[in-house]
Amino acid sequence: MAAQLGAEVTVVDEDGLGGACVLTDCVPSKTLIESSTTMTSLRRSASLGLQLENGDNPVVDVDAPALYARIKALAAAQSNDIAERVEAEGVRIIQARGSLTGPHTIEAAGTAVHAGVVLIATGAFPRVLPDAVPDGERILTCRQLYDLDELPEELIVVGSGVTGAEFASAYQALGTQVTLVSSRERVLPHEDKDAAVVIEGVFRRRGMNVLGRSRAESVHRKGDGVVVTLTDGRTVTGSHCLLTVGMVASTASIGCERAGVRLDRRGFVDVDRVSRTSAPGVYAAGDCTGVLMLASVAAMQGRIAMWHALGEAVQPLRLSHVASTIFTDPEIASVGVSQAAVDRGEVAARMVKQPLATNPRAKMGGFRDGFVKIFARPGTGLVLGGVVVAPRASELILPISLAIEQNLSVDQLAHTFSVYPSLSGRVTEAARNVMALGPDATLSAPTQLRDEVAEHAERGLG
Ligand SMILES: Cc1cc2nc3c(=O)[nH]c(=O)nc-3n(C[C@H](O)[C@H](O)[C@H](O)COP(=O)(O)OP(=O)(O)OC[C@H]3O[C@@H](n4cnc5c(N)ncnc54)[C@H](O)[C@@H]3O)c2cc1C
Repeated sequence: MAAQLGAEVTVVDEDGLGGACVLTDCVPSKTLIESSTTMTSLRRSASLGLQLENGDNPVVDVDAPALYARIKALAAAQSNDIAERVEAEGVRIIQARGSLTGPHTIEAAGTAVHAGVVLIATGAFPRVLPDAVPDGERILTCRQLYDLDELPEELIVVGSGVTGAEFASAYQALGTQVTLVSSRERVLPHEDKDAAVVIEGVFRRRGMNVLGRSRAESVHRKGDGVVVTLTDGRTVTGSHCLLTVGMVASTASIGCERAGVRLDRRGFVDVDRVSRTSAPGVYAAGDCTGVLMLASVAAMQGRIAMWHALGEAVQPLRLSHVASTIFTDPEIASVGVSQAAVDRGEVAARMVKQPLATNPRAKMGGFRDGFVKIFARPGTGLVLGGVVVAPRASELILPISLAIEQNLSVDQLAHTFSVYPSLSGRVTEAARNVMALGPDATLSAPTQLRDEVAEHAERGLG
């Protein structure tokens, strides 16, 4: 983008364009999940009237080398596409590790690159536990999975945040026996509680061993497998262990101190809402800032930095409008105001939660688990937020995102045509039911009442 605005641009990158997002994290994990979702569909085939060999339990073999080879090839191709596009814009690429030697100088591949504006976007890497050292064979981080030559037979996933839940869901669908070690009372402790409850129920129903309130202390190899020791002394054994216990900023050895760039106590680069660091002319974007570890946020921070640096009109980053998805099966997508904020009394909101199970399209597809939840401002009815738990919720959240961004009301959303039958019909239906609550209803209404209102409305189209 900076090149399109007329700047002379050099990118210093050691692994390949697109970064970890494309090569090891987001793109590979979502490619894996495409395969695991297909596996879940195949398992449902008997209930849809399709006769596969072996009835309810069709034998579909996972060809692990082919699966992983596809993932790596797709990621590499995506990285090459980005490199070609960037080069076509006249950007110089230096494939090397870079280090700041001052606010406007980077040392890379033995040369000093001088720049009027510097953008730090060095990302983050998976955190590990002191007594659980990944070996790339049995004890793994999420970046080492694709080098295995087999599917783990018994996978212990340590950590039940977004990354842990996504991999636990995917591997279980592929046929691995999964144990999910969660230090908190429930999985996905930072997400919408209703959504987390649905997902944990699905995990358990499909045979996952979910260990709540269980903190892993150490992971060691034993014979052909691994032993995870919990802080209360219990042990869990499996063939492989995947550590998903957070990310650490990649800022330790990039010369921030020489450039006058301040880090916070966790090592993330301190930035303001237009991506400026403490050093004039030095910006930072993405996971190295720890702002919100999402590819979409990283990209927006980068665009904002370049607009600001090059004197374009710029709107500071607004995190309250970020839509995100947890790619479990079903997916959880959310945007805007959260249930937790409403429950804490930080925001007054009307809310309706409608189950997916009674939606005709969901019935046709055989989906039962999920819901659509919408929050609206009392009085004006402006859409404030939403949560969708459904297959492809990542696609269904867009109308709610759009409504928030464009200051639309539930009334306007409710009057928008949705296709019949469709899962998105549940979004417009939920909007209609928020309207039905009346302009002054707030979340102080008991949950039971809200659910009753939703259920009543279920009898209509949706
Ligand atoms: C398993 C997983 C799944 C995810 N799925 C999603 C998802 O579905 N959707 C979503 O929005 N987000 C997802 N994320 C988060 C997303 O991947 C990150 O938010 C995103 O990668 C951040 O981009 P970035 O540019 O800040 O850093 P990165 O993508 O990490 O890129 C940083 C790059 O900088 C390079 N680098 C580091 N130091 C130097 C140096 N000194 N010199 C040269 N190069 C250097 C690194 O090698 C790397 O290539 C996922 C993350 C994980 C771990």
